[in-house]
Amino acid sequence: MRFSQMFIPTLREVPAEAEIISHQLMLRAGLMRKQASGVYSFLPLGLRTLKKIEKIIREEMDRAGAQELLMSALLPAESYKESGRWEVFGPEMFRLKDRNNREFCLGPTHEEIFTETMKSIRSYRALPMILYQIQTKYRDERRPRFGVMRSREFIMKDAYSFDRDEAGLDASYQRMAEAYHRIFDRLKLKYKVVEADTGAMGGSGSQEFMVTSEVGEAVMAYCEACGYAANEEKAQCSVPQADTQEALPVERIHTPQVRTIEELTTFLSCSPKQFAKTLIYRADGSLVAAMVRGDRELNEIKLMNALKCNELEMADAESVQQVTRAQVGFAGPVALGIRIIADHEVAAAVNLIVGANETDYHLKNVTFGRDFQAEVHDIRSITPEDPCPRCGKTISLTRGIEVGHIFKLGTKYTRALGCNYLDETGTERPMVMGCYGIGLNRSMAAIIEQNNDENGIIWPMAVAPYHVIIVPVNVLDETVMKTAEDLYKVLQKAHVEVILDDRNERPGVKFKDADLIGIPIRINIGKKASEGLVEFKYRENRQAIELTVQEAIDKITAEVKAIE
Ligand code: ATP
Ligand code: MG
Repeated sequence: MRFSQMFIPTLREVPAEAEIISHQLMLRAGLMRKQASGVYSFLPLGLRTLKKIEKIIREEMDRAGAQELLMSALLPAESYKESGRWEVFGPEMFRLKDRNNREFCLGPTHEEIFTETMKSIRSYRALPMILYQIQTKYRDERRPRFGVMRSREFIMKDAYSFDRDEAGLDASYQRMAEAYHRIFDRLKLKYKVVEADTGAMGGSGSQEFMVTSEVGEAVMAYCEACGYAANEEKAQCSVPQADTQEALPVERIHTPQVRTIEELTTFLSCSPKQFAKTLIYRADGSLVAAMVRGDRELNEIKLMNALKCNELEMADAESVQQVTRAQVGFAGPVALGIRIIADHEVAAAVNLIVGANETDYHLKNVTFGRDFQAEVHDIRSITPEDPCPRCGKTISLTRGIEVGHIFKLGTKYTRALGCNYLDETGTERPMVMGCYGIGLNRSMAAIIEQNNDENGIIWPMAVAPYHVIIVPVNVLDETVMKTAEDLYKVLQKAHVEVILDDRNERPGVKFKDADLIGIPIRINIGKKASEGLVEFKYRENRQAIELTVQEAIDKITAEVKAIE
């Protein structure tokens, strides 16, 4: 393609809301345009890369024996009602009605529809079967952000396996896990596979593929010693030994205007470990209290699992005041009158400082069991001070972007929707199911997060929108232009994807654009064209080397071949 004819609306300035580098570069390099919060259109360069990611995923799914199909995105409510997820999804589901008032949603994920479709299979002989699609999903995310990393419309590859039994599911799951490794390796991503929580979805096992990145929204815990890796929601904190100190009598202490843990530690000059925070939540409509030690972070997913609830949010100030009979900042467990979930550390401690449920007062020497009752669970996030849950050595934390998720669902959906098969003896059994997702747009953003510099994107060859850009330094010089045009034709014939920057612009402008859009190889054609020489330069390093035209062609075709 000739640059002069291409639609590459690069931007010099990016909107302030583009906080992370991939979001900024996708806008600056003209890969996509925003339509609304969390809704983006892909422009030609962006679409080419998206299609390449799609192709790699498709090849690996097919290689693993999965069969592609395409479901609708507009889905009738019925099967989601049967599975219970019409409620579970809550406001995250885009819902609409047709002219006859029938309810529909825009599919957020397709377990129900695949299960429904698999009811056409009756015999054990047809199983196992893995089906997949590459299709647009809709989720009305609470906080769409970071461009296509967390958007409200996005493309997902979702696969579903159907087996006769658990052992079959294990094998299908393993096959998908191996395919995922090949996909993310081919996408040149650096990633970790972590154990994930199966909470809300039910199921017997789950792993996430996490691209290591500072801007990742997920925190993962891993152990260098034994290889354990889990996401923050899954990584269990060890249960501490009960404190053997003597429990002292409760004291009511005056703490005027002292609400936060920081204020309290200063005011009482003691460590945050001596406090317990009491946080008031609304879980599926009811008020509950959750307690963690003053120096700990409550993990909301762990709390949701402990409560077995679908929706969890911090209670509003008015509800907090009502239930504690005090201003916000003085909540405590003693005589609270609502369900309390306490972290193991809170239950193991004696003589804690807690809110008194009275404005400007706290209680000292409060002890679980004697002064208050609670359900005890692991509800805090793991920290680097905690031991590895598997081997007891030190644990490390790092951030990651979840690009893929594999999940052993078991019979949750097949039972709910009556997706059964007949086994060898003619007995009806529910199929055993797994599901496997990859976010395409999020993967694309993740590749950019890991492959960029101050000048722009550095695409790995396998997903670059074009392999090569030819830059004639002066388009008015006949020899230069002839060399460029000839090379352009030869490369096109050799099935190399090539851009010819035929614009009458200063070389600096062209180099800048080539760097911004991240084309892996650049061929500069200047004065030495008269001697049959060109400059060959990889986007990822700064050094250009001088080659004859033929040498350049050989090197380029070898590089392109290497990705096949
Ligand atoms: P997250 O925890 O980030 O919200 P999820 O657990 O909801 O992800 P899944 O339901 O497992 O995600 O979806 C499978 C894959 O789809 C994810 O691994 C991710 O790559 C992608 N994905 C999910 N939500 C979004 C989104 N809002 N925008 C872009 N990609 C997404
Ligand atoms: Mg989500």
